[in-house]
Amino acid sequence: MITIAIANQKGGVGKTTTAINIATAMAATGWKTLLLDLDPQGNASTGLGVEVEARVCSSYDLLVDQVALADCIQPTNIPNLDIIPATVDLSGAEVELVSVEDRTARLRDALTGHTAHDICFIDCPPSLGLLTLNALGAADTLMVPLQCEFFALEGLSQLLLTVERVQQRFNPDLGIVGIVLTMFDRRNRLTDQVADDVRDCLAGLVFESVIPRNVRLSEAPSHGLPALVYDHSCAGSRAYIALARELIGRLPEQRKAA
Ligand code: ADP
Ligand code: MG
Repeated sequence: MITIAIANQKGGVGKTTTAINIATAMAATGWKTLLLDLDPQGNASTGLGVEVEARVCSSYDLLVDQVALADCIQPTNIPNLDIIPATVDLSGAEVELVSVEDRTARLRDALTGHTAHDICFIDCPPSLGLLTLNALGAADTLMVPLQCEFFALEGLSQLLLTVERVQQRFNPDLGIVGIVLTMFDRRNRLTDQVADDVRDCLAGLVFESVIPRNVRLSEAPSHGLPALVYDHSCAGSRAYIALARELIGRLPEQRKAA
């Protein structure tokens, strides 16, 4: 299984929207896909129609109580897409794990050796705390949603510094599969300018596929559906399908065979 952390310490940049829709696109392509909701807000769980009462076993149980992985996974309504949901309990996990010796390795230990899925996406919370560190420790690679706005690059350099530290300390093989520009609005000159700057700085790291600002993407979660199911032909859905195609092209050869 290849594990991809979707992280950016800024909130509201499109992590969860990207996690839900790229996971759905990969599942539609036939990949057995797992979405691990690692944000106490549980937006990915809600967006995939997993009611709070249905979150019997969650990412909190996996991390803190070390419940077996298989017991935390539940199916979604989407074929090939399973989820480990998140509950508000998870907001306490950062504190509860502080005194644990292997606190940054909990998630990696839990996922190691799991072969029932081809790919796992981890939807990270908006911080660089212990939860995100666990995701970076467990991941093969990182996908960074970046909203094209004025301070985007500043936040990005802080994130890249964290990645470097993680590589030095506990996950030397952590890669960055790409940066995805989100909420792109071509009528907005600043958006355009930031996108150009990001491409100038980071060139090949930035996915060609850009996610447009699209109201269908923001409506879909309130119906408990991925945009790809809610309206598969809207501009946002088409962008995520293109992104999935590009992602598959960037994954290491030996892992593409799904
Ligand atoms: P994060 O997980 O980084 O906090 P979200 O994916 O939850 O970000 O997105 C923040 C808000 O913006 C949500 O209300 C979401 O529906 C909306 N949103 C995300 N991406 C888009 C987009 N491309 N177009 C329009 N709205 C979007
Ligand atoms: Mg989120």
